[in-house]
Amino acid sequence: MKVALVGIGKIAVDQHVPAIANSDDWELSATVSRNGSVEGVPAFTDLGEMLSAHPEVRVVSLCLPPVPRFDSAMQALRAGRHVMLEKPPGATIAECHALDAAAREAGLTIYATWHSRHADMVAAAKDWLAKRRLRRMTVTWKEDVRRWHPGQAWIWEPGGLGVFDPGINALSIVTEILPDDIHVASAELDVPSNCQTPIGARIAFHHPKGAEVTATFDWRQDGDQIWRIEAETDDGTLTLADGGAVMAVDGTPTGTAAPLSGEYPRLYAEMAALVTKGRRDMDLRPMVLATDALALGRRIATDPFHD
Ligand code: NAP
Repeated sequence: MKVALVGIGKIAVDQHVPAIANSDDWELSATVSRNGSVEGVPAFTDLGEMLSAHPEVRVVSLCLPPVPRFDSAMQALRAGRHVMLEKPPGATIAECHALDAAAREAGLTIYATWHSRHADMVAAAKDWLAKRRLRRMTVTWKEDVRRWHPGQAWIWEPGGLGVFDPGINALSIVTEILPDDIHVASAELDVPSNCQTPIGARIAFHHPKGAEVTATFDWRQDGDQIWRIEAETDDGTLTLADGGAVMAVDGTPTGTAAPLSGEYPRLYAEMAALVTKGRRDMDLRPMVLATDALALGRRIATDPFHD
C-alpha cells in the first residue's frame, strides 16, 4: 500500500519512516512538509498538490502537531484517501467526531493511533488485569521535556497539551488495560507563567468499583526517566514499566511480548488490516480523560519555562 507522510518532524523521522521502510506492506510514495523531506522520496510543501500528483497514494499518515491536523485530515478524506492520525487524534473531541463521520460517509478508514498501546507488554498486562479485582492504580510519567521535545514551541501553545502530550500515552495504556471505564474526578495543573499548557499534573480518577486511581505527570524530571503504571489487585501487584515495555508481578518479570517488533511496525500493521477490512478505529477515551483534566484542573502558576 502506498502511503504519504505529512509533517516531517521528530516522530516522522524517528519512527514512521523506518517502520514503513521495514514493512513489506507499505511503500513511502511522497512527503508533505514545509521544511522536512526524506531522501529519495518525492517531497511536497502543499498537501493538495501531493494529492493531485499522487492518485496512487491510498493512505495519508499525519504526523503534524494536533492543532493543524484537522484541516489536513479532512482534505485527505475529501480526496478519497484513508487517514492515519498520530496521537492525539486532534485538538478537540468535536474535531475527531467530525473526521470520523466524514470517513464513515466516504467509506474510508480513519485510525486514531495510540502508539503506547502497542508497547511490548500492554496486551499481557490487559490479560492479567482482566482476571483480577483492582484496588489501586498509580500512574507515574516523569520525563525531561528539554530532552524529548527540544525546541517544540507548539507544545506550550493552546491545544499543544503540555505535559499531557506524553501523559496521554499513559492514559491510552490505562484505558486499554483497565476492564472498567474511569473518569476524571479532580486535577491540579502546574502551568509555567509564560506558557498556555501545564508542565506538571496530578489527577484523581473515579473508578466505578471504588479502586483508587491516580496519575502524576511531570516534565521537570532530572535523572531517571519514569513511565510506570502500578496496579495493586486482590491477587498481586502488576508493574508496567518503561512505557509498557516491561512487566512484572510482585517484582518478578513476567508476560509474553506482543507479536512483531516495535510500536510503530504494529501501528502500520493494524492500519493495513483496517484498510483491508474496510473498518475505522477512533477510540477517544484517552483524549476525553486528558481534556477533562484540562477542563477541571485547578491551575497553579509556576516558574516560567525557557527551552
Ligand atoms: P515536531 O518535531 O514539531 O514535528 C511536527 C512537524 O509538523 C514539524 O516538523 C512541521 O514540519 C509540521 N508542522 C506543520 N504545521 C505545523 C505547525 N503549525 N506547528 C508546528 N509544526 C507544524 O513534532 P513531533 O514530535 O514529531 O510530534 C508530532 C505529533 O506526533 C504530535 O502530535 C506528537 O504528540 C506525536 N508524537 C510525538 C512523539 C515524539 O517523541 N516526539 C512520539 C509519539 C507521538 P514543517 O515545518 O516541515 O511543515
